[in-house]
Amino acid sequence: MGKKQEPSVAASSEWTDEEGLRQPRGDVHAWLPGTNQTLCGLPLHRARLDRFQHVLWVDALWLADTTDSGIAICRRCAAAGGRSTRRWSRVDPRP
Ligand SMILES: [Zn+2]
Repeated sequence: MGKKQEPSVAASSEWTDEEGLRQPRGDVHAWLPGTNQTLCGLPLHRARLDRFQHVLWVDALWLADTTDSGIAICRRCAAAGGRSTRRWSRVDPRP
């Protein structure tokens, strides 16, 4: 539709909610549907990440902030523009 595509997520682990939907857990990265790597450059297959096309990255960020969801947000993905409501800013390069 000419709109910029919102990233979904890819995660190292998953659980199933009450409605039977797969939900991400563990290491959670931003992933653009149609690509085979995360925003931070990890190949999904080699990093053993599962795709969650129905879970938007912004929602995962919100879940990680507000719930005890077991989600570990990838800081490199967050810095790579996954947080679409904020202007991109340089992060501390040290770990
Ligand atoms: Zn990442």
